[in-house]
Amino acid sequence: MKKSKLLSMAMFILLLAGCSSVGEGEAGEDKLKIVATYSIIADMTENIVGDKAEVYSMVPIGTDPHMYDPLPADTSRVSGADLIFYNGLNLETGKGWFQDLLKVTNKNEVAFAVSEEVTPMYLTEKGKETQVDPHAWLDIQNSIKYVDLITERVIEQDPDNKEYYLNNQSEYIKELNELDQYAKDAVTAIPQEKRILVTSEGAFKYFSKAYGFESAFIWEINTDSQGTPEQMKKIINIINENQVPALFLETSVNPKTMETISNETGVPIHSKIFTDSLAKKGEDGDTYIKMIKWNIDKVVEGLSQ
Ligand SMILES: [Zn+2]
Repeated sequence: MKKSKLLSMAMFILLLAGCSSVGEGEAGEDKLKIVATYSIIADMTENIVGDKAEVYSMVPIGTDPHMYDPLPADTSRVSGADLIFYNGLNLETGKGWFQDLLKVTNKNEVAFAVSEEVTPMYLTEKGKETQVDPHAWLDIQNSIKYVDLITERVIEQDPDNKEYYLNNQSEYIKELNELDQYAKDAVTAIPQEKRILVTSEGAFKYFSKAYGFESAFIWEINTDSQGTPEQMKKIINIINENQVPALFLETSVNPKTMETISNETGVPIHSKIFTDSLAKKGEDGDTYIKMIKWNIDKVVEGLSQ
């Protein structure tokens, strides 16, 4: 009698323990752990995984993902990750900080370049024509390719929630296509001869091709020297010759050089603009969709005056 009472007590405790471990799983411990190298990819990923995964964004908001020194916290997140998403195309991989991190953590097998299906564009400056330009996400159709790849990899890791992910994917892509159409319609307000987009970094190649602009820049990619006398002379000439009405300043670069260009030419910096980072949570431009909408609205406003 005593013995069987003890036994049932033990079984009851086992049952409780079983329940509580399921409970913890639901609260987050068993969730898929995903690391994205920077905020834009993290946001796209969050749109797909919803509350089924934890997404950690590595490079802080407003900081340049071309060059970054991972913190000990980043290394530990990468070590524990089930999936790692990075842009590739010479972004985090341009100076190698990301490859070094994968090597240290031995996580190559679960790291995926979300740009894999994108047709790359190349740098244009003499001697750099073999280097790819990373900023493919500024063309919304490329971002749809990013989202497709993210969804595929997430489903491979977590097939049980396949329907949920596919549903999020199709809703998100619908919004992205609407945004793409919005952009294409909005830019028609800018006279053809004024469609020159001047930014610090030459980040707008994909964007310009997709939405009918010419892009001009001080330096071509953030891994270059920034603001040399030759670069300054060249962009000042372009601004003067084309009577460019407005300049734009990215949130993830040092503002000094563009401020100098503005002073030298008398052309105002019309607005901040988002390229390599989202805005802080709660501010304008804190999601990929909002950042692109902001860019389009500000560019149209600045160049159609
Ligand atoms: Zn960049």
